[in-house]
Amino acid sequence: MKNLYVGTSWKMNKTVAETREYMKKMKEFMQNNGEAIKDLDVFILPTFLAIDAALQITRNANSGLKIGAQDCCWEDFGPFTGEVSPMHLKDLGVSYVEVGHAERREIFKETDEMVSKKVAAIVKNKMKPILCIGEEEKPSQIDIALNFLKNQLLDDLSRIESADLKNIIIAYEPVWAIGATASAPLDYIKEAIDFLRALLNKEFGGRHGDDQVIIYGGSVTPESAKDILALPDNDGIFVGRSALNIDYFIKMIIMASEVQKVK
Ligand code: PEP
Repeated sequence: MKNLYVGTSWKMNKTVAETREYMKKMKEFMQNNGEAIKDLDVFILPTFLAIDAALQITRNANSGLKIGAQDCCWEDFGPFTGEVSPMHLKDLGVSYVEVGHAERREIFKETDEMVSKKVAAIVKNKMKPILCIGEEEKPSQIDIALNFLKNQLLDDLSRIESADLKNIIIAYEPVWAIGATASAPLDYIKEAIDFLRALLNKEFGGRHGDDQVIIYGGSVTPESAKDILALPDNDGIFVGRSALNIDYFIKMIIMASEVQKVK
């Protein structure tokens, strides 16, 4: 049985003080619900400035909560003004690094070439990339989206070996469903995830696609989370806005633990 993942990226939200407050409550929740959450992977990606504060609260707390970053550079050090080194993130104690989010691609013009270099740098530094992929618009026929996903995913994974796939989390986030009023339809999510698994089986051989961790993100809420988590081939949820409210995030973690029991 694979673990179910429940994660959130806070984007450019929450000060250090707000992060501390949230993390203390999360730590308490995780510690008091050890049995329920034992087969879950729960991660939070605060802003860079708040990562250390989050780590200090969760480190040695035996809470199982993982802290990550929302991006990093593809180089470990050097003349990259304003960038954040993956080596330094590892040194700080970071476990996960998000890469290729739709906002990075669209607003900051990140290309698949850049994303592939970041994925390789994160793996090299022994952290887990959360690789975001997704088509920009909801097409009239899903095949158009699947073809786009194929090219994007293979480009983004072009610098890694098949043995590294087990250390990568693929977040399928259709761009049109991010920050929207509703998540993508369940049958649409299922078809996309099944397609990605078949693609990885074909390209990397063996059961790589079946074993791959693939989660869904895009307007997940406490109302929609349960059905999305229950999709047979989906390994979890990646939440934006809804998880800024800790009560909602905890609700979704509890849902995941219930779904996990019957999955
Ligand atoms: C996201 O930005 O990746 C995301 C999933 O956000 P939201 O849940 O707010 O749509």
